[in-house]
Amino acid sequence: LPEPVDLLVRGGIVVTVDPDDRIFAGDVAVVDGRIAAVGAELDVIPARVLDASGAAVIPGLCNAHMHETLERGVFEDLPFMEWLEVYALPKDRAYQPRHMRAAALLNQAEMIAGGTTSFIDIFRHPAEAAAVAETSGLRATFSPQVIDDPVGAGESLADAEAFVAAWHDRADGRIRAWFGPHALYSCRPATFERMRERADALGVGIHTHLAESRAERRLVAERTGGLTPLQWLDRLVGLGPGRLAAHCVELTAGDIERLAASGAGVAHCPTSNAKLGNGTAPVVELLAAGANLGLGTDSNMTNNNLDLFEEMRMAALVQKQRRADPTVLPSATALRLATLGSAGALGLAELVGSLEVGKAADLAVVDLNRPHTRPLVRRGRTNAVEHLVWSCSAADVRHTVVAGAVLMEDRRLLTIDLAEALELADVEELHLLDAAGVLERRFPERP
Ligand SMILES: [Zn+2]
Repeated sequence: LPEPVDLLVRGGIVVTVDPDDRIFAGDVAVVDGRIAAVGAELDVIPARVLDASGAAVIPGLCNAHMHETLERGVFEDLPFMEWLEVYALPKDRAYQPRHMRAAALLNQAEMIAGGTTSFIDIFRHPAEAAAVAETSGLRATFSPQVIDDPVGAGESLADAEAFVAAWHDRADGRIRAWFGPHALYSCRPATFERMRERADALGVGIHTHLAESRAERRLVAERTGGLTPLQWLDRLVGLGPGRLAAHCVELTAGDIERLAASGAGVAHCPTSNAKLGNGTAPVVELLAAGANLGLGTDSNMTNNNLDLFEEMRMAALVQKQRRADPTVLPSATALRLATLGSAGALGLAELVGSLEVGKAADLAVVDLNRPHTRPLVRRGRTNAVEHLVWSCSAADVRHTVVAGAVLMEDRRLLTIDLAEALELADVEELHLLDAAGVLERRFPERP
């Protein structure tokens, strides 16, 4: 007899990203927020149906490094030191909870609209952002960005500890709290060591920026008598599962071996690295070594969107360019990085990242009925994954589902008032720039 199910995603090309990389025409059935069945023409009685005809059904995309900032497109094309000292740091110091709420609504609306179902945020006033995630329905990890130097540009260690204690494992585990020391050059060693102690005691992770630039590598070598950033982080917090390092551009061969052996997560952010002129991470080598690698967009200041389709494409492009070899980082690997790879880097691979029975029902339905996703071959094997990586964008996502809850249906956001989010972003950004004392300089009323 047909079984009743809560939700049926019907009639798509199901791209499982499971261990066998199965792709087939069929359905995904959901019961109690979990995937109950995947297969062709499932014989079930659904309470609700999402149409996936002419579309790919993929595991929800997972963003392994981002900041929910509001400063998209307002500080462009500046020399680095002017950008940092005149704009970025004063703006970070001026952040108030009201700005963070606006930023979280905007960022989470964009992620849902782009098929992203999980993310880790490292930024300010995390309780505001976490409160937005409670109602947006996204699966989220918040790591308060602690900065010792310069004073006031980030969260304090005490505030971070209070946040983690209050917010870890909320909303049936959908919301988690980790520690987020900004970087080796902006936090004291004692801050890292204290976080290691608290993280291990509470069973939470630590997310930080690591080995992002040559300048960082030089600074760390000077301060430590020749250690690489990775070696120093290893001494301070101990690399392993529950440690997530963003960027990892400046790695030695020894660092790559150590990272892979440790099981620590790596968030590769190719667009941000390119925009800031920081070079390209050794992703081919990290993959060959078996590193726990995922993809991040970084913030909307350095990307400027949170589109993980673009990030997959960028990851593949820069490695092909860097290695002068078009065979490296093929399409299926790029898709795996943005799904199961990022889930693994966040320590969530048992729960999400692939469409398998028993996993949480986090998925996106991506329209392939578009001029830019044809021809669609459906004989023997399909070229749907090639289109997802090389041609699709966030705008092609039709439905987004997290833990069986529909967050977007037919491109309509169901958990965030989009008009409110857009309006608040404009208003609060002007307020923030004014509070930071840079509004008139950057956007003079009479140019
Ligand atoms: Zn970052």
